[in-house]
Amino acid sequence: MASIFTRIVSGEIPSYKVAEDENYFAFLDINPLAEGHTLVIPKKETDYIFDIGDEEYQGLFLFAKRVAAAMRMVIPCERIGIAVIGLEVRHAHIHLVPLKTIYDIDFRKPKLKLSPGEFAEIAAKISGAMIG
Ligand code: 5GP
Repeated sequence: MASIFTRIVSGEIPSYKVAEDENYFAFLDINPLAEGHTLVIPKKETDYIFDIGDEEYQGLFLFAKRVAAAMRMVIPCERIGIAVIGLEVRHAHIHLVPLKTIYDIDFRKPKLKLSPGEFAEIAAKISGAMIG
């Protein structure tokens, strides 16, 4: 069965899209640790990130780098943190989290509650800052 993220890529499940190219897709985490918390995934479904082939793996991180640069331009933060967990959704993904303090990337903390309008506005801001 297709992962929930594959169903997001196909549009079957809605998401707040931030960026997309032929092979990769970035969208807001629905339970954000911080405003702008974004997930970056390969469209091709692989469970464990270190099982991805070298070329696709490098492409994923280069795509994440571009997304992180856009996030940093429009989200008030010191820098963008990066984490890979994958215990909940078995489709490889990189968490990009805007950081002001180390607590912002503590996955045990209560998640932010944002309205659909707030999610849409954040996604549009990051998307608009993407270069290339
Ligand atoms: P992990 O697998 O790295 O432990 O966590 C998966 C992440 O995906 C969580 O932060 C969770 O909030 C996010 N997530 C799970 N289901 C959905 C969904 O349907 N849409 C979005 N946008 N994010 C999701």
